Amino acid sequence: MSNPFFETWTTPFGLPPFDRIQAEHFPPAFDHGMAENIAEIAAITGNPDAPTFANTIEAMERSGRFLNRVGGVFWNLNSSNTTDALETIARDYAPKFAQHSMRIALDPALFARVADLYERRDTLDLAPDQLRLLERQHLGFVRSGALLPPDAKARMTAITERLATLHTLFGQNVLHDEKDWQLVLEESDLAGLPDFARNAAAQAAKERGQEGKYVITLARSSVEPFLTFSARRDLRQVAYEAWIRRGEHEGEHDNRPLIREIVALRTEQAKLMGYASYADFKLDDSMAKDTSAVERLLLQVWGPAKEKAAAERAELQDCARAEGMNEPIAPWDWRYYAEKVRQAKYDIDEAEVKPYFVLENMVRAAFDTAGRLFGLTFTERPDLPVYHPDVRVYEVTEKDGRHVGIFLHDNFARSSKRSGAWMSSYRDQENFDGAVSPIIVNNNNFSKGEPTLLSFDDAETLFHEFGHFLHGCLSDVRYPSQSGTSVRRDFVELPSQIYEHWLAVPETLSTYARHHQTGEPIPQDLLRRLLAARNFNQGFGTVEYTAAALLDLEFHTRSDAADTDVAAFERSVLDKIGMPAEIAVRHRPTHFQHLFAGSGYASGYYAYLWAEVLDADGFEAFLETGNPFDPDLAAKLKTIYSSGDTRDPMELYTAFRGREPRIEALLKHRGLTQSLGDA
Ligand SMILES: [Zn+2]
Repeated sequence: MSNPFFETWTTPFGLPPFDRIQAEHFPPAFDHGMAENIAEIAAITGNPDAPTFANTIEAMERSGRFLNRVGGVFWNLNSSNTTDALETIARDYAPKFAQHSMRIALDPALFARVADLYERRDTLDLAPDQLRLLERQHLGFVRSGALLPPDAKARMTAITERLATLHTLFGQNVLHDEKDWQLVLEESDLAGLPDFARNAAAQAAKERGQEGKYVITLARSSVEPFLTFSARRDLRQVAYEAWIRRGEHEGEHDNRPLIREIVALRTEQAKLMGYASYADFKLDDSMAKDTSAVERLLLQVWGPAKEKAAAERAELQDCARAEGMNEPIAPWDWRYYAEKVRQAKYDIDEAEVKPYFVLENMVRAAFDTAGRLFGLTFTERPDLPVYHPDVRVYEVTEKDGRHVGIFLHDNFARSSKRSGAWMSSYRDQENFDGAVSPIIVNNNNFSKGEPTLLSFDDAETLFHEFGHFLHGCLSDVRYPSQSGTSVRRDFVELPSQIYEHWLAVPETLSTYARHHQTGEPIPQDLLRRLLAARNFNQGFGTVEYTAAALLDLEFHTRSDAADTDVAAFERSVLDKIGMPAEIAVRHRPTHFQHLFAGSGYASGYYAYLWAEVLDADGFEAFLETGNPFDPDLAAKLKTIYSSGDTRDPMELYTAFRGREPRIEALLKHRGLTQSLGDA
């Protein structure tokens, strides 16, 4: 059998020939890709000519293409549709890839050439994108340890390798617990559940060979509606406790020892690099720039959020008492009574809203918004290859028909998919050696139904990931390493979060929120109540998120991280910040994948709130014009989506907004302004 990775793909748009790719094709392709990459680097360092931007930086941009192509397919499939065979390969290769990238990052001859160019950068007559590329490549080497003495370099490599293994195991343990656990229910256990939740539970049961029964899983899309609607307090408690204990139990899938080791290694890494803590090291290369700026932002919302949550709790307690529940509100009660209060206060019933949020229509809304703002058109291409029958494929074009990219939309939860929602790419845009168009995927974890109905939050998630997709798809840069979403972590959530605002534009909802049976648009009155209810329970949402961000910061600002007792540490942090007892942190450490299944968001979970300052303030600019689709402003915004990492993020933002961002719009958006005034 031939290995498709060693052939030229003749598929349309260069999509991977998914039907021919088998797990056993990856290891030989990875081995070849790494060897080829090392040879490419050796050719750069062995070049007898003096370093130039072309023979060093551009040659680096040209290297590793084979490996990237294989990796693009592998990491996507391993996240979206994994198998035991793929998981084994991921475990085997995580340390090998870490070693490989460190071998390049710590290659003294390669760094010498980059450093030489960096020293002379002002004399090289570089275009702005080239200058930034050189500066950031140089910084990347320095931050990998290129300036360290040999023994420290060796230790950096060993740490990076070990961390790669630990990150992989951490993620696999969470997936294991989510796959493993199920709450099997009978018809008689479903009190309170609306039709959509029953249907989703019936569907989940069917997929697990339990036809005729109902299954609740630990996927957020399954367990959250259950906690919101189930009238059975005992079952809510069972589901809730399993949900928050993912990764926290004795045995081979225990994530606690992994966290201890990860945190200790990161601290050691930071100290080798001359920083007091891992957070100091990480934030040194961020838009926020340092730990104190992050802390300041988080504490600015923490107090008002707690106050708002306390007011919310009092309302929930009253509601519970009125229903004859005299015990204090427990964490597994919050969502349930919040939904009741929401129904009473705004006369809104999630079960009344959901029939108007048909997945197909919300996808159409996301597409058409991109059409109005940025001139994109989406054409479904069922003829193109996919890796799972549920994946939909679209060709993206400009209004004049020019090809822009390919969009894969993978919307449904399944046991082979990791939880959450994310965007990633099979191929990034670049214009370096000829135009290369992007192939981008959005993954969601919606419960499949007939039809699939979304909550308002689900629809926001859909728009959010679609915003990331646009960042990848509208990318118009020369060099691959500056493409699309390869920007600073606390800037990358701006294009996604600002896009969410267009879902809530009344025009969008009255056009696309249509009843799945009658096709009638959402009644104006319901729409008004829905929008009015958006600030509801924001105290809860802000508390659970901000606590997670503060926990992240605490884990990574300690100067001595050895022997962390994870549960005790979590408890001490939550006590210190005065966490309300009825609310759990949004991600507890043992399943906090942002922090421990990779290092990208480690001491970076604040990034969502940081970017929210920008997105709330940025969308406010549209409101100020009186037209949420204002074409001049949309054109300016498009520059943020198309610039990738070719420009400094604050410079990009101020060019769009005409000034630096302000926090007021965020506080207003979350309904925290009043409490702030009282505080
Ligand atoms: Zn995001």
